[in-house]
Amino acid sequence: MNDISNVTSGLQTVRTRISKALALAGRGPNDVQLIAVSKKQPVELIREAYALGQRDFGENYVQELLGKAEACADLPGIRWHMIGHLQRNKARHTVAVASAVHTVDSVALAEELGKRRSIEESLPRSDIASELPAGIGGDPSLLSVLVEVNVGGELQKSGCTPSELPEILDAIEGQPSLELVGLMTVPPLTDSPEGARAYFDQLAELRQKSGGSERLPHLSMGMTADLEQAILAGSTLVRVGTAIFGSRL
Ligand SMILES: *Cc1c(COP(=O)(O)O)cnc(C)c1O
Repeated sequence: MNDISNVTSGLQTVRTRISKALALAGRGPNDVQLIAVSKKQPVELIREAYALGQRDFGENYVQELLGKAEACADLPGIRWHMIGHLQRNKARHTVAVASAVHTVDSVALAEELGKRRSIEESLPRSDIASELPAGIGGDPSLLSVLVEVNVGGELQKSGCTPSELPEILDAIEGQPSLELVGLMTVPPLTDSPEGARAYFDQLAELRQKSGGSERLPHLSMGMTADLEQAILAGSTLVRVGTAIFGSRL
């Protein structure tokens, strides 16, 4: 069962896993940020994680994201990360509450997010938030954006191909209301966590070819099953749901 005492131990377990993996990788103790993936989990568990110091939460569906953001509007400093496939017609709602979008996979979506965020900036704010949520990049007033790359080349999956990446990166940098902060991937399912490593290494290599960590400071990769492998490969943002909150409703 998902209950509050389990969130306490789940969060503690995940924090320990992250620390150990960072030490093993010879990286600094604060080199990874944990995004607690709260999709299909009740708001009470989000509040519990928040009480334990968690500030970054990931959601996959725009409707659910909006509902949760509204239900948690009283929690200062909470940051919502859109980590699910995003349709262009949902960009307008997303930019009003998200501090980061991890799943930009086309020039058209980058342009739509940029346009909608700049319109949002010009609106008087009253309802959900008194100001736009702060991003994870260097400029907290901008919407942080990562490009999702389908490194496994799976037909059914969202994410751009490596060859499409350069024009999408340029398109994001052409939008004054967006801040390009990195790359994201969801690797194909493999039999063991070690199987995901090759895909994480590919994303890290793609970053090197695309301007390195100066241009792309963040790599969003690693989930419950494979976060250690992702951290060994250089992940800076792990997206973890099940290990914190238990199985989804
Ligand atoms: C659901 C989801 C996660 C979290 O997965 P867990 O295995 O529950 O940790 C991370 N990233 C994305 C894109 C997801 O859809």
